[in-house]
Amino acid sequence: MNEMSYDVVIVGAGIAGSSAAYFLRNRGFKVLLLDIKSFERVGDKPCGDAIGRHHIDELGVPPPAGSELSGLVKGIDIYSPLEDIRYRVLGDGFEINRVAYTQKFITEAVKGGVEFMERARALKLIIRDNSVVGVIIADGEGTKKVRSKVVIDATGVARVLARQCPREWPVSEELDPKDTNIAYREVRKLKEPVDEPEILRIYVSNKVAPGGYWWFFPYSLTDGFINVGLGVQGGVGNPHPKLQLYKYVLSRSTFKDSVLIEAGGAPVPTRRPLPSLVWNGIAVIGDAAYTVNPIHGGGKGSAMLSAYCVAEAVASALSEGDCSARKLWRANTCYMLRYGAKQAALDIFRIFLQHLSDDDLEYGMRKKIIKEEDLNVVSLQGDLELSVVDKAMRLLAGLGRPSLLLRLRAVSKYMDVIKKHYLKFPEDPVHWRSWKARSDQIMGEFKAKVIKS
Ligand SMILES: Cc1cc2nc3c(=O)[nH]c(=O)nc-3n(C[C@H](O)[C@H](O)[C@H](O)COP(=O)(O)OP(=O)(O)OC[C@H]3O[C@@H](n4cnc5c(N)ncnc54)[C@H](O)[C@@H]3O)c2cc1C
Repeated sequence: MNEMSYDVVIVGAGIAGSSAAYFLRNRGFKVLLLDIKSFERVGDKPCGDAIGRHHIDELGVPPPAGSELSGLVKGIDIYSPLEDIRYRVLGDGFEINRVAYTQKFITEAVKGGVEFMERARALKLIIRDNSVVGVIIADGEGTKKVRSKVVIDATGVARVLARQCPREWPVSEELDPKDTNIAYREVRKLKEPVDEPEILRIYVSNKVAPGGYWWFFPYSLTDGFINVGLGVQGGVGNPHPKLQLYKYVLSRSTFKDSVLIEAGGAPVPTRRPLPSLVWNGIAVIGDAAYTVNPIHGGGKGSAMLSAYCVAEAVASALSEGDCSARKLWRANTCYMLRYGAKQAALDIFRIFLQHLSDDDLEYGMRKKIIKEEDLNVVSLQGDLELSVVDKAMRLLAGLGRPSLLLRLRAVSKYMDVIKKHYLKFPEDPVHWRSWKARSDQIMGEFKAKVIKS
């Protein structure tokens, strides 16, 4: 078998892998980025294509421009199940051309010395003495052994390499199907231009999209082009999202005589992050590390952030000549403090929302139990402040549904508890097990007391 040797091998060139390669460019390391797909198709995964500007600003990466940009976003409207209540949450973002934007990171990485190998499939991790030391790949010429000081799994929800790790490694934690959203979307050209094309629309309805939502995202730079899709919670016997989309959404007059441009779907991991992004000789980023926002399912920005945290940790470990879990560990503190803690809090909120009826959701939105401005705080910081809940409880005490309000109060408490726990993420892997045991305890207690009560 042919043999090659690198400092870093990144498997998967979606937004996570390609941005990791971008962050590792120009540093003098020998880096290989590979994907089963050809360069023309990298990043071509079914998506709503929306990304908040704050992700791009925070990471200092180039914003989408020219052919990488399909639309500008100024805010999101969220509709209640009866579609009679609308929340408008303002915030800047982009609709991207996901393939062109991913290619930009690869091109810049290659200019900075990274090697890109297309149409190459990673088959098997090579593990020696409790550490990853490489990966077996197959390309057009046959199988090859690729030795590497660090292997980065960026293979998306398939987690091709992380799932081959020994069970006792934290990166191997499996995805419960109930913590996924099965999403399907179509890109269509409508007959009529869209009103307010810089506003994305989200519709919450358990009847239409059980445990998820359906969306209508215009591409503001191309008249009449929209991305319409629907996600349902996985693992609980929900109907296929394509059936729901056709039955309840595409049957509406808005879509009459529209032209189908593109279609496809995929599972989205919508849970708190993997308990560790790294172990001996391996790092995991993007969907493979469960970095997607549990509430809205957006995963591109957080995939790039996980790539940044891992790239910084890998660079420092390589310069010290030691890629053990201990030396790579700072990837976790970087990610958990900046984003993971919030995601864990949102995971609690997500589970709560998935157990509400349409009637509860309609009621909550009509009474503005959580207001538009508070929604922004929940989404950006993962805080559902007790003061907000207390205010709502006092206001609504006489209006009925005390159990809903009490549950909301408990949810807010557990969001706070789990967020604080993640903010105390251990600085050394030796404390990892006890930290993880406490995380599981908080989640178990929340489910037993709030969800099953
Ligand atoms: C319908 C839908 C709508 C969505 N809408 C949005 C949205 O509007 N905004 C947003 O931010 N997020 C959205 N998401 C989520 C977002 O698409 C993902 O979070 C993001 O693309 C994950 O990027 P990734 O690089 O981690 O994984 P992926 O994009 O899945 O990339 C993984 C790569 O690994 C490669 N690969 C897999 N196995 C191997 C192997 N064995 N060897 C070599 N290569 C391999 C694949 O070919 C692929 O290129 C949506 C998801 C879906 C399904």
